[in-house]
Amino acid sequence: MPFRSLGLDAAILKAVQETGYTEPTPIQSAAIPFVLKRRDLIGIAQTGTGKTAAFTLPILSLLASTHSKGIRALVIAPTRELVVQIEENVRAYAKHLPVTVATIFGGVSEKPQIKALEHGADIVVATPGRLLDIIRGREKAFANIEFLVLDEADRMLDMGFVPAIRQIVKLLPRKRQTLFFSATLSREIEKLTGEFLQEPETVEIGRRSNPADTVTQSVYEIPQHLKPSLLLHLLQNGALNMVLVFTRTKHGADRIARRLEQAGISTGAIHSNRSQNQRLRALNEFREGKIRVLVATDIAARGIDVDGISHVVNYDFPPHHEDYVHRIGRTGRAKAVGEAISFVSKEDEDAVRALERFTRRGIPRHKAEGFDYTQPAPPKERGGDRRPPRRAGEVRAPRPDFRRGNSQERTSHEVHGGQKSQSQGGGGQRSRSRGRSDGKPREISMSGEPGKKKSGIGRFLGFGRR
Ligand code: AMP
Repeated sequence: MPFRSLGLDAAILKAVQETGYTEPTPIQSAAIPFVLKRRDLIGIAQTGTGKTAAFTLPILSLLASTHSKGIRALVIAPTRELVVQIEENVRAYAKHLPVTVATIFGGVSEKPQIKALEHGADIVVATPGRLLDIIRGREKAFANIEFLVLDEADRMLDMGFVPAIRQIVKLLPRKRQTLFFSATLSREIEKLTGEFLQEPETVEIGRRSNPADTVTQSVYEIPQHLKPSLLLHLLQNGALNMVLVFTRTKHGADRIARRLEQAGISTGAIHSNRSQNQRLRALNEFREGKIRVLVATDIAARGIDVDGISHVVNYDFPPHHEDYVHRIGRTGRAKAVGEAISFVSKEDEDAVRALERFTRRGIPRHKAEGFDYTQPAPPKERGGDRRPPRRAGEVRAPRPDFRRGNSQERTSHEVHGGQKSQSQGGGGQRSRSRGRSDGKPREISMSGEPGKKKSGIGRFLGFGRR
């Protein structure tokens, strides 16, 4: 189906053509006609499916067809990065229209943001916290809102933004069109749609919560202390040319970035301790190919929209499957293919199994060719590895008291951080190595050339960029 059959404004079709999109993605084909008919909409779509354009294009088209003063559309998204990316999308698609856009997010001075609002913006893209600060006392500016978009609603729920969103929505006109996007549709999410939308249409693309089919997934079983060496080993393969590494903590992200830099691999890190400018700079350097690896925490990585990420590495396996889906959705975006590699230590086995049950799909276990699994742990950095995450129901022995001079325990804990905590943890952990479903780990080498397409993937996103 061509874009022109969707009923979009000619100026938008021109911009879309200049962007290089040849045909709408499934979520775009399904959602755009409903939005143009002024229906409330629930869009269930994973990251990377083109959902930003699915709401931006029809809203711009409707804005172009009528005239009104003040802010007319409000888009709320969970993170600053996502806000900036939505803004970039709006600017690209609105380039032949006299539509203005302003952004509101925390971590930077609010003065320019207020100024931009006062100068008048047709579309405001905002994170909930800063928006709530700014909207108070300026309710009038938001009195003519015609469109409200809640993007990545499941993530906003996880991040505790729902109370702020409720307060914001109370200040908006009741008569409006509301579009609600989420990667998953849980009972809590359904409850929210009941609060904010009226007689919505629902479009759902792909199976709920299933990782994008354009991503090849694999698991490397590895003791915690060998993870840094394994990452360096895998990075010897040039096919890993644009790599996003996820860690659980900010300190972990910094530590890995330092190790890779020391090994001569250009690396950046983004997490919530970095200023907005530092985060944007790292993101741009990554996008432009100036750095090969970007290490990120889940929250900072939210909304990373960088085309061409060849590999996502879950250095720390995420405890929630939603995070896994979001993480690996950073690669294999739109028509591209990508690989997601997860490092799995014994502590993560339950989470991996839970994910496999949830997606009803096993993830193949791989062994890194030529990697020495028997090597001792590398010397530890000061202030280094913390205990691995506590597992559900795990009761932990207190940490050894270093102040009493128990240097023996200290050394043992530091050197074998991950394994040591096994013995500390409640005793329920069996020491056995997991392989494929048939129990045998598979020896493989990393897949060939960068960007090389593999068979059997890219089935569900049947569209492309020119
Ligand atoms: P999103 O899910 O909105 O984050 O979009 C994921 C990626 O798909 C972005 O890089 C978009 O630029 C790209 N994209 C969006 N719509 C299309 C389309 N119709 N054809 C090709 N790529 C698209």
